[in-house]
Amino acid sequence: MSIITAFFHALRSLLLALLWPGIGLLLAHQWPGGLLQAFTMIELGMLGLALAGAGVAVGFGQWRVSAAFVLVLTIWSGLRFAGTPMAMVGLPVLILTLLPWVRERGFSGAGPILAGSVVILGIALWARGGGPATGVDSFLFDPLDLPVTDISWVAIFAALGLAAALGRLAVKREAIDIALTGMLASTMPLVLAPGSLTPLALALSAAAVLSLWTGLLLHAWRMAYIDELTRLPNRRALEERIQRLPREWAVAMLDIDHFKKFNDRWGHDVGDQVLRRVAAVLAGVGGGGQAYRYGGEEFTVIFAHANVERAGRAIEALREEIGRQPFRVRGERDGAERRGRGGGKDMQRITISAGLALATELAPEAAFDKADKALYRAKAAGRNRLIQA
Ligand code: GH3
Ligand code: MG
Ligand code: MG
Repeated sequence: MSIITAFFHALRSLLLALLWPGIGLLLAHQWPGGLLQAFTMIELGMLGLALAGAGVAVGFGQWRVSAAFVLVLTIWSGLRFAGTPMAMVGLPVLILTLLPWVRERGFSGAGPILAGSVVILGIALWARGGGPATGVDSFLFDPLDLPVTDISWVAIFAALGLAAALGRLAVKREAIDIALTGMLASTMPLVLAPGSLTPLALALSAAAVLSLWTGLLLHAWRMAYIDELTRLPNRRALEERIQRLPREWAVAMLDIDHFKKFNDRWGHDVGDQVLRRVAAVLAGVGGGGQAYRYGGEEFTVIFAHANVERAGRAIEALREEIGRQPFRVRGERDGAERRGRGGGKDMQRITISAGLALATELAPEAAFDKADKALYRAKAAGRNRLIQA
Protein backbone atom coordinates (compact mmCIF):
# COMPACT_ATOMS: atom_id res chain seq x y z
CA MET A 1 0.00 0.00 0.00
CA SER A 2 1.45 3.34 -0.98
CA ILE A 3 1.75 6.20 1.47
CA ILE A 4 -0.96 8.14 -0.36
CA THR A 5 -3.45 5.27 -0.17
CA ALA A 6 -2.64 4.82 3.50
CA PHE A 7 -3.22 8.53 4.04
CA PHE A 8 -6.63 8.40 2.39
CA HIS A 9 -7.58 5.32 4.37
CA ALA A 10 -6.68 7.11 7.59
CA LEU A 11 -8.57 10.21 6.50
CA ARG A 12 -11.64 8.18 5.65
CA SER A 13 -11.57 6.44 9.04
CA LEU A 14 -11.26 9.80 10.76
CA LEU A 15 -14.19 11.20 8.81
CA LEU A 16 -16.32 8.17 9.59
CA ALA A 17 -15.39 8.01 13.24
CA LEU A 18 -15.41 11.62 14.29
CA LEU A 19 -16.68 14.07 11.79
CA TRP A 20 -19.46 12.56 9.80
CA PRO A 21 -22.14 12.21 12.51
CA GLY A 22 -21.54 15.72 13.83
CA ILE A 23 -21.24 17.35 10.43
CA GLY A 24 -24.27 15.44 9.22
CA LEU A 25 -26.39 16.71 12.09
CA LEU A 26 -25.13 20.28 11.72
CA LEU A 27 -25.84 20.26 8.00
CA ALA A 28 -29.27 18.81 8.62
CA HIS A 29 -29.98 21.52 11.14
CA GLN A 30 -28.70 24.38 9.00
CA TRP A 31 -30.25 23.20 5.74
CA PRO A 32 -32.36 26.17 4.64
CA GLY A 33 -36.10 25.77 4.63
CA GLY A 34 -35.93 22.01 5.07
CA LEU A 35 -38.08 19.82 7.21
CA LEU A 36 -35.17 19.19 9.54
CA GLN A 37 -35.03 22.81 10.65
CA ALA A 38 -38.18 22.14 12.58
CA PHE A 39 -36.18 19.94 14.97
CA THR A 40 -34.28 20.99 18.03
CA MET A 41 -30.70 19.82 18.48
CA ILE A 42 -31.84 17.25 21.06
CA GLU A 43 -34.42 15.88 18.67
CA LEU A 44 -31.80 15.70 15.94
CA GLY A 45 -29.53 13.81 18.33
CA MET A 46 -32.22 11.24 18.89
CA LEU A 47 -32.99 11.03 15.18
CA GLY A 48 -29.29 10.51 14.45
CA LEU A 49 -28.98 7.83 17.12
CA ALA A 50 -32.04 6.02 15.81
CA LEU A 51 -30.97 6.16 12.15
CA ALA A 52 -27.39 5.12 12.99
CA GLY A 53 -28.84 2.32 15.16
CA ALA A 54 -31.02 1.10 12.29
CA GLY A 55 -27.90 0.91 10.09
CA VAL A 56 -25.73 -0.81 12.70
CA ALA A 57 -28.52 -3.30 13.41
CA VAL A 58 -28.68 -4.25 9.73
CA GLY A 59 -24.89 -4.70 9.81
CA PHE A 60 -25.37 -7.12 12.72
CA GLY A 61 -28.09 -8.99 10.85
CA GLN A 62 -30.62 -7.80 13.46
CA TRP A 63 -33.48 -6.79 11.21
CA ARG A 64 -36.01 -6.71 14.00
CA VAL A 65 -33.97 -4.13 15.91
CA SER A 66 -33.55 -2.13 12.75
CA ALA A 67 -37.32 -2.13 12.17
CA ALA A 68 -37.85 -1.17 15.83
CA PHE A 69 -35.63 1.92 15.43
CA VAL A 70 -37.63 3.07 12.41
CA LEU A 71 -40.99 2.38 14.07
CA VAL A 72 -40.03 4.26 17.24
CA LEU A 73 -39.15 7.22 15.03
CA THR A 74 -42.52 6.86 13.33
CA ILE A 75 -44.42 6.91 16.62
CA TRP A 76 -42.44 9.86 17.83
CA SER A 77 -42.98 11.86 14.65
CA GLY A 78 -46.67 10.95 14.82
CA LEU A 79 -46.91 12.50 18.27
CA ARG A 80 -44.57 15.36 17.44
CA PHE A 81 -46.58 16.80 14.57
CA ALA A 82 -50.15 17.87 15.02
CA GLY A 83 -52.47 16.41 12.46
CA THR A 84 -50.90 13.01 12.12
CA PRO A 85 -53.65 10.40 12.11
CA MET A 86 -53.57 8.34 15.29
CA ALA A 87 -53.46 5.21 13.16
CA MET A 88 -49.91 6.22 12.35
CA VAL A 89 -49.11 5.84 16.03
CA GLY A 90 -51.25 2.79 16.66
CA LEU A 91 -50.08 0.77 13.66
CA PRO A 92 -46.34 0.95 14.51
CA VAL A 93 -47.13 0.10 18.13
CA LEU A 94 -48.98 -3.01 16.99
CA ILE A 95 -45.99 -4.11 14.89
CA LEU A 96 -43.53 -3.30 17.70
CA THR A 97 -45.56 -5.46 20.06
CA LEU A 98 -45.25 -8.39 17.66
CA LEU A 99 -41.50 -7.97 17.04
CA PRO A 100 -40.25 -10.01 20.05
CA TRP A 101 -42.20 -12.97 18.66
CA VAL A 102 -40.79 -12.81 15.15
CA ARG A 103 -37.87 -15.13 14.65
CA GLU A 104 -34.70 -13.46 13.44
CA ARG A 105 -33.93 -15.08 10.10
CA GLY A 106 -31.96 -12.43 8.36
CA PHE A 107 -33.59 -10.51 5.56
CA SER A 108 -35.97 -13.29 4.57
CA GLY A 109 -37.64 -13.15 7.98
CA ALA A 110 -37.69 -9.66 9.40
CA GLY A 111 -36.49 -7.77 6.33
CA PRO A 112 -40.03 -7.22 5.03
CA ILE A 113 -40.93 -5.85 8.46
CA LEU A 114 -38.09 -3.35 8.13
CA ALA A 115 -39.17 -2.44 4.62
CA GLY A 116 -42.77 -2.08 5.83
CA SER A 117 -41.62 0.07 8.72
CA VAL A 118 -39.85 2.46 6.37
CA VAL A 119 -43.02 2.67 4.27
CA ILE A 120 -45.09 3.40 7.39
CA LEU A 121 -42.61 6.11 8.39
CA GLY A 122 -42.98 7.58 4.92
CA ILE A 123 -46.77 7.55 5.11
CA ALA A 124 -46.64 9.07 8.59
CA LEU A 125 -44.49 11.95 7.37
CA TRP A 126 -46.66 12.43 4.32
CA ALA A 127 -49.94 12.19 6.21
CA ARG A 128 -49.01 14.61 8.96
CA GLY A 129 -50.12 17.56 6.89
CA GLY A 130 -53.45 16.03 6.01
CA GLY A 131 -55.47 16.88 9.07
CA PRO A 132 -57.22 14.40 11.31
CA ALA A 133 -59.65 12.94 8.81
CA THR A 134 -57.23 11.29 6.39
CA GLY A 135 -58.06 8.01 4.80
CA VAL A 136 -55.58 6.03 6.86
CA ASP A 137 -57.63 6.14 10.04
CA SER A 138 -60.92 5.28 8.44
CA PHE A 139 -59.26 2.48 6.51
CA LEU A 140 -57.67 0.96 9.59
CA PHE A 141 -60.15 1.64 12.31
CA ASP A 142 -63.59 2.11 10.74
CA PRO A 143 -64.09 -1.49 9.57
CA LEU A 144 -63.58 -2.54 13.19
CA ASP A 145 -66.08 0.12 14.25
CA LEU A 146 -63.52 1.58 16.62
CA PRO A 147 -63.32 5.26 17.45
CA VAL A 148 -60.76 6.90 15.21
CA THR A 149 -59.21 9.06 17.88
CA ASP A 150 -59.32 6.54 20.66
CA ILE A 151 -56.63 3.92 20.37
CA SER A 152 -57.07 2.45 23.83
CA TRP A 153 -57.54 -0.99 22.25
CA VAL A 154 -54.04 -0.63 20.83
CA ALA A 155 -52.84 0.27 24.32
CA ILE A 156 -54.47 -2.83 25.79
CA PHE A 157 -52.91 -5.02 23.11
CA ALA A 158 -49.51 -3.39 23.67
CA ALA A 159 -49.78 -3.79 27.44
CA LEU A 160 -50.56 -7.49 27.05
CA GLY A 161 -47.68 -7.81 24.57
CA LEU A 162 -45.31 -6.10 26.97
CA ALA A 163 -46.38 -8.38 29.84
CA ALA A 164 -45.86 -11.43 27.64
CA ALA A 165 -42.43 -10.20 26.51
CA LEU A 166 -41.43 -9.56 30.13
CA GLY A 167 -42.55 -13.08 31.04
CA ARG A 168 -40.53 -14.52 28.20
CA LEU A 169 -37.39 -12.75 29.41
CA ALA A 170 -37.46 -15.05 32.43
CA VAL A 171 -36.57 -17.96 30.16
CA LYS A 172 -34.95 -16.35 27.14
CA ARG A 173 -32.37 -13.77 28.11
CA GLU A 174 -30.88 -12.98 24.73
CA ALA A 175 -29.51 -9.44 24.42
CA ILE A 176 -31.89 -8.61 21.59
CA ASP A 177 -34.94 -9.83 23.51
CA ILE A 178 -33.93 -7.63 26.44
CA ALA A 179 -33.57 -4.69 24.04
CA LEU A 180 -36.95 -5.23 22.38
CA THR A 181 -38.69 -5.57 25.74
CA GLY A 182 -37.05 -2.41 27.07
CA MET A 183 -38.12 -0.63 23.92
CA LEU A 184 -41.73 -1.83 24.39
CA ALA A 185 -41.73 -0.67 28.00
CA SER A 186 -40.70 2.80 26.85
CA THR A 187 -43.14 3.07 23.94
CA MET A 188 -46.14 1.72 25.86
CA PRO A 189 -46.85 4.98 27.73
CA LEU A 190 -46.81 6.79 24.38
CA VAL A 191 -50.01 5.04 23.31
CA LEU A 192 -51.62 5.51 26.70
CA ALA A 193 -51.08 9.24 26.61
CA PRO A 194 -51.17 10.38 23.00
CA GLY A 195 -51.66 13.98 22.12
CA SER A 196 -49.66 17.06 22.87
CA LEU A 197 -47.14 15.66 25.33
CA THR A 198 -44.18 16.47 23.12
CA PRO A 199 -41.39 16.64 25.74
CA LEU A 200 -42.61 13.42 27.36
CA ALA A 201 -42.95 11.79 23.95
CA LEU A 202 -39.38 12.82 23.16
CA ALA A 203 -38.06 11.46 26.47
CA LEU A 204 -39.87 8.14 26.06
CA SER A 205 -38.82 7.77 22.42
CA ALA A 206 -35.22 8.54 23.37
CA ALA A 207 -35.47 5.91 26.13
CA ALA A 208 -36.70 3.38 23.57
CA VAL A 209 -33.83 4.26 21.21
CA LEU A 210 -31.33 3.87 24.07
CA SER A 211 -32.87 0.50 25.03
CA LEU A 212 -32.32 -0.73 21.50
CA TRP A 213 -28.75 0.60 21.44
CA THR A 214 -27.97 -1.01 24.81
CA GLY A 215 -29.22 -4.30 23.41
CA LEU A 216 -27.03 -3.98 20.31
CA LEU A 217 -23.98 -3.24 22.47
CA LEU A 218 -24.78 -6.11 24.84
CA HIS A 219 -25.16 -8.34 21.80
CA ALA A 220 -21.74 -7.19 20.52
CA TRP A 221 -20.19 -7.71 23.97
CA ARG A 222 -21.54 -11.26 24.07
CA MET A 223 -20.28 -11.97 20.57
CA ALA A 224 -16.83 -10.83 21.70
CA TYR A 225 -16.63 -12.59 25.07
CA ILE A 226 -19.04 -15.52 25.12
CA ASP A 227 -18.39 -18.72 23.24
CA GLU A 228 -21.31 -19.32 20.89
CA LEU A 229 -21.37 -23.11 21.21
CA THR A 230 -20.90 -23.62 24.94
CA ARG A 231 -22.09 -20.23 26.27
CA LEU A 232 -19.02 -20.12 28.50
CA PRO A 233 -16.72 -17.08 28.53
CA ASN A 234 -14.18 -17.54 25.75
CA ARG A 235 -10.42 -17.30 25.38
CA ARG A 236 -10.53 -13.52 24.97
CA ALA A 237 -12.41 -13.22 28.28
CA LEU A 238 -9.80 -15.47 29.88
CA GLU A 239 -6.91 -13.35 28.57
CA GLU A 240 -8.50 -10.24 30.07
CA ARG A 241 -9.18 -12.01 33.37
CA ILE A 242 -5.50 -12.95 33.56
CA GLN A 243 -4.63 -9.24 33.48
CA ARG A 244 -6.48 -8.61 36.73
CA LEU A 245 -5.80 -11.61 38.94
CA PRO A 246 -4.96 -11.30 42.62
CA ARG A 247 -1.42 -12.13 43.79
CA GLU A 248 -2.40 -15.65 44.73
CA TRP A 249 -4.62 -17.67 42.47
CA ALA A 250 -5.02 -21.13 41.02
CA VAL A 251 -5.74 -22.51 37.59
CA ALA A 252 -7.13 -25.84 36.42
CA MET A 253 -6.87 -27.14 32.86
CA LEU A 254 -9.57 -29.65 31.92
CA ASP A 255 -9.80 -31.84 28.83
CA ILE A 256 -12.51 -34.26 27.70
CA ASP A 257 -11.23 -37.83 27.50
CA HIS A 258 -11.25 -39.52 24.09
CA PHE A 259 -13.34 -36.73 22.71
CA LYS A 260 -12.33 -37.55 19.16
CA LYS A 261 -14.36 -40.75 19.30
CA PHE A 262 -17.62 -38.80 19.66
CA ASN A 263 -16.78 -36.88 16.50
CA ASP A 264 -15.46 -39.90 14.62
CA ARG A 265 -18.27 -42.31 15.49
CA TRP A 266 -21.33 -40.11 15.56
CA GLY A 267 -20.33 -36.96 13.74
CA HIS A 268 -19.46 -33.40 14.62
CA ASP A 269 -22.97 -32.54 15.85
CA VAL A 270 -22.82 -35.17 18.56
CA GLY A 271 -19.34 -33.85 19.45
CA ASP A 272 -20.91 -30.41 19.86
CA GLN A 273 -23.66 -31.82 22.08
CA VAL A 274 -21.01 -33.36 24.31
CA LEU A 275 -19.20 -30.04 24.53
CA ARG A 276 -22.42 -28.30 25.54
CA ARG A 277 -23.23 -30.92 28.14
CA VAL A 278 -19.79 -30.66 29.73
CA ALA A 279 -19.85 -26.83 29.58
CA ALA A 280 -23.22 -26.73 31.33
CA VAL A 281 -21.70 -28.56 34.29
CA LEU A 282 -18.54 -26.43 34.26
CA ALA A 283 -20.62 -23.24 34.29
CA GLY A 284 -21.80 -24.19 37.78
CA VAL A 285 -18.31 -24.70 39.20
CA GLY A 286 -18.10 -24.01 42.94
CA GLY A 287 -15.20 -23.09 45.24
CA GLY A 288 -14.97 -19.54 43.88
CA GLY A 289 -14.03 -20.73 40.41
CA GLN A 290 -14.95 -19.41 36.98
CA ALA A 291 -14.91 -21.67 33.91
CA TYR A 292 -13.76 -20.61 30.42
CA ARG A 293 -13.63 -22.42 27.11
CA TYR A 294 -9.92 -22.50 26.37
CA GLY A 295 -10.40 -23.91 22.88
CA GLY A 296 -11.65 -27.11 21.24
CA GLU A 297 -12.56 -29.58 24.00
CA GLU A 298 -10.30 -27.93 26.56
CA PHE A 299 -11.53 -25.76 29.40
CA THR A 300 -9.92 -23.60 32.07
CA VAL A 301 -11.13 -22.85 35.57
CA ILE A 302 -9.62 -19.83 37.34
CA PHE A 303 -9.75 -19.53 41.11
CA ALA A 304 -9.10 -16.08 42.58
CA HIS A 305 -7.49 -17.69 45.65
CA ALA A 306 -4.72 -20.20 46.29
CA ASN A 307 -6.60 -22.56 48.57
CA VAL A 308 -5.62 -25.82 46.93
CA GLU A 309 -8.06 -27.99 48.91
CA ARG A 310 -11.01 -25.79 48.03
CA ALA A 311 -10.06 -25.60 44.35
CA GLY A 312 -9.33 -29.34 44.23
CA ARG A 313 -12.74 -30.16 45.76
CA ALA A 314 -14.49 -27.96 43.19
CA ILE A 315 -12.74 -29.67 40.25
CA GLU A 316 -13.35 -33.13 41.71
CA ALA A 317 -17.04 -32.30 42.03
CA LEU A 318 -17.14 -31.29 38.34
CA ARG A 319 -15.35 -34.46 37.29
CA GLU A 320 -17.78 -36.65 39.25
CA GLU A 321 -20.84 -34.77 38.04
CA ILE A 322 -19.79 -35.09 34.39
CA GLY A 323 -19.06 -38.80 34.75
CA ARG A 324 -22.28 -39.49 36.66
CA GLN A 325 -24.94 -39.34 33.94
CA PRO A 326 -24.22 -41.28 30.77
CA PHE A 327 -24.80 -39.37 27.56
CA ARG A 328 -27.47 -40.70 25.23
CA VAL A 329 -26.30 -40.33 21.66
CA ARG A 330 -28.93 -38.82 19.40
CA GLY A 331 -28.75 -37.88 15.75
CA GLU A 332 -28.97 -39.35 12.25
CA ARG A 333 -25.63 -41.12 12.10
CA ASP A 334 -26.48 -42.65 15.46
CA GLY A 335 -29.64 -44.32 14.09
CA ALA A 336 -27.74 -46.10 11.31
CA GLU A 337 -25.00 -47.08 13.69
CA ARG A 338 -27.44 -48.54 16.21
CA ARG A 339 -29.32 -50.60 13.63
CA GLY A 340 -25.98 -51.93 12.40
CA ARG A 341 -25.20 -53.16 15.86
CA GLY A 342 -28.60 -54.62 16.58
CA GLY A 343 -30.26 -51.59 18.17
CA GLY A 344 -30.43 -50.65 21.81
CA LYS A 345 -29.90 -47.27 23.40
CA ASP A 346 -26.37 -46.05 23.01
CA MET A 347 -25.30 -44.64 26.34
CA GLN A 348 -21.84 -43.16 26.46
CA ARG A 349 -19.97 -42.09 29.53
CA ILE A 350 -18.22 -38.74 29.29
CA THR A 351 -15.17 -38.27 31.46
CA ILE A 352 -12.68 -35.46 31.86
CA SER A 353 -9.10 -35.23 33.07
CA ALA A 354 -7.76 -32.19 34.88
CA GLY A 355 -4.55 -30.61 36.10
CA LEU A 356 -4.52 -28.05 38.90
CA ALA A 357 -1.71 -25.61 39.71
CA LEU A 358 -1.28 -22.89 42.33
CA ALA A 359 0.08 -19.62 41.08
CA THR A 360 1.73 -17.94 44.02
CA GLU A 361 4.50 -15.66 42.76
CA LEU A 362 4.22 -17.25 39.33
CA ALA A 363 3.85 -15.61 35.96
CA PRO A 364 0.50 -16.64 34.41
CA GLU A 365 2.26 -18.49 31.57
CA ALA A 366 4.23 -20.57 34.07
CA ALA A 367 1.08 -21.39 36.06
CA PHE A 368 -0.81 -22.47 32.94
CA ASP A 369 2.18 -24.55 31.93
CA LYS A 370 2.23 -26.31 35.32
CA ALA A 371 -1.52 -27.04 35.11
CA ASP A 372 -1.08 -28.33 31.56
CA LYS A 373 1.72 -30.68 32.61
CA ALA A 374 -0.41 -31.98 35.48
CA LEU A 375 -3.26 -32.57 33.00
CA TYR A 376 -0.90 -34.50 30.76
CA ARG A 377 0.07 -36.69 33.72
CA ALA A 378 -3.62 -37.27 34.51
CA LYS A 379 -4.08 -38.51 30.93
CA ALA A 380 -1.01 -40.74 31.13
CA ALA A 381 -2.18 -42.17 34.45
CA GLY A 382 -5.39 -43.48 32.87
CA ARG A 383 -7.66 -40.39 32.47
CA ASN A 384 -10.85 -39.46 34.40
CA ARG A 385 -8.82 -37.99 37.24
CA LEU A 386 -7.41 -34.79 38.70
CA ILE A 387 -3.73 -34.30 39.37
CA GLN A 388 -2.41 -31.40 41.40
CA ALA A 389 0.90 -29.96 40.32
P1 GH3 B 1 -7.58 -37.35 24.99
O1 GH3 B 1 -8.33 -38.26 25.92
O2 GH3 B 1 -6.13 -37.68 24.94
O3 GH3 B 1 -7.81 -35.93 25.30
O4 GH3 B 1 -8.15 -37.64 23.54
P2 GH3 B 1 -9.05 -36.69 22.66
O5 GH3 B 1 -9.63 -37.51 21.57
O6 GH3 B 1 -10.00 -35.98 23.50
O7 GH3 B 1 -7.99 -35.60 22.17
P3 GH3 B 1 -7.67 -34.86 20.84
O8 GH3 B 1 -7.00 -33.58 21.24
O9 GH3 B 1 -6.88 -35.74 19.93
O10 GH3 B 1 -9.04 -34.53 20.14
C1 GH3 B 1 -9.66 -33.31 20.22
C2 GH3 B 1 -10.67 -33.22 19.10
O11 GH3 B 1 -11.62 -32.21 19.37
C3 GH3 B 1 -10.07 -32.87 17.79
C4 GH3 B 1 -11.04 -31.88 17.16
O12 GH3 B 1 -11.51 -32.36 15.91
C5 GH3 B 1 -12.19 -31.83 18.14
N1 GH3 B 1 -12.79 -30.52 18.29
C6 GH3 B 1 -12.20 -29.37 18.59
N2 GH3 B 1 -13.09 -28.36 18.66
C7 GH3 B 1 -14.33 -28.89 18.40
C8 GH3 B 1 -15.67 -28.36 18.31
O13 GH3 B 1 -15.93 -27.16 18.52
N3 GH3 B 1 -16.68 -29.23 18.02
C9 GH3 B 1 -16.43 -30.55 17.81
N4 GH3 B 1 -17.47 -31.36 17.53
N5 GH3 B 1 -15.18 -31.08 17.85
C10 GH3 B 1 -14.14 -30.27 18.15
MG1 MG C 1 -7.34 -31.89 23.81
MG1 MG D 1 -9.36 -34.65 24.93
